[in-house]
Amino acid sequence: MFDSLSDRLGGIFDRLKGRGALNEDDVRAAMREVRIALLEADVALPVVRGFIDKVTDKAIGQEVLKSVTPGQQVIKIVNDALVEMLGSDVSEIDLATTPPAIIMMVGLQGSGKTTTTAKIAKMLTEKERKKVMMASLDVNRPAAQEQLATLGEQTSVATLPIIAGQQPVEIAKRAIQAAKLQAFDVLLLDTAGRLHVDQQLMDEMRAVSAEAQPKETLLVVDSLTGQDAVNVAQNFSEQVDLTGVVLTRMDGDARGGAALSMRAVTGRPIKFVGTGEKMDALELFHPDRVANRILG
Ligand code: GDP
Repeated sequence: MFDSLSDRLGGIFDRLKGRGALNEDDVRAAMREVRIALLEADVALPVVRGFIDKVTDKAIGQEVLKSVTPGQQVIKIVNDALVEMLGSDVSEIDLATTPPAIIMMVGLQGSGKTTTTAKIAKMLTEKERKKVMMASLDVNRPAAQEQLATLGEQTSVATLPIIAGQQPVEIAKRAIQAAKLQAFDVLLLDTAGRLHVDQQLMDEMRAVSAEAQPKETLLVVDSLTGQDAVNVAQNFSEQVDLTGVVLTRMDGDARGGAALSMRAVTGRPIKFVGTGEKMDALELFHPDRVANRILG
C-alpha cells in the first residue's frame, strides 16, 4: 500500500532538496509531477486538482522562494496538505446516546461489510466492554443472515434470531426492540449490499435509516477498487448521512487513491481500516501515520 506513490514523491522531493534556490517555474514543474503521481495512485481528479491548487498557492509565496531552504519548505507544505486531506485526527466511533447506540453499516456486496460489522462488534465488546448485538438486514443475498450468525458465534457476539420472510425495516424494528429489552449498549445493523449502486438499494437503506435513526452510519468500501471506491462513496454520501468510512483490504496492494480521496469526496473521516480476513484485523485510522508512510 502506498509504495509506488511513496517512491514517486520521494524522487520528486529529492530533486527539490538538491536545489539551492527555486523559482516559480521550478515549483510549478514539481507540482505537475506530484499531480501525476497522485493520479497514478488513483486519487480522484477533483481531489488532486484541489490539492495541487492549494499547495501551489502556498509554495510560490515569496517567503518560500526567498528562503535559504525552499525545497524543504515546499516538502513541508505538501506534507501538511496530505495530513489535512486525510483528516488530522483519529476519529473514534461515537456511541454517546441513550442505549442502544445504533451503528448502521452500508456498502456494496463484497466490500467486506459483514466481516467489518463483526470485527467492530468484537472490538467494542472486548476493548470497550460494551454489550453488543448484531442484526443482518440483508434479505437479498442467500445466507447473508446466517453468515452474520456464524460470525457472531465465532466472536461471541449476540445476533438477532433470524425470522424468515421479514423485510429489512421490520427486522430493524425487531432488532431495536430486542436490544432495548435486553439492555444492549450497541446495536450493529448490517444492511443489504448490491453488486452495484441502484435506487432500490438506496431506498431500502434510507427507509432503515429513518426507522433506526443511527448514531453512526459507516460506509464500507474496498480500497482495492480505486476510482470505483471513490464513485461508490460519492453515491452513498449523496443518499444517506454518513458519519464515517471503513476502508477494507488495506492489507492488499491498493495504490492508496481511495484512502486519499475519501474525506474530500464524502466530507467524512475514515474511522477504521480492515487489514485482513481475521476478526481482529481492524485498526483505527491514523491520518498522521498514513501521511508519514506516504512521505517515507
Ligand atoms: P460483504 O458482501 O460486503 O458483506 O462482504 P464480506 O464481509 O462477506 O467479505 C467478502 C470477503 O472479503 C470475505 O472473504 C472477507 O474475509 C474478505 N475481507 C473483508 N475485509 C477484508 C480485509 O480487510 N482484508 C482482506 N484481505 N479481506 C477482507
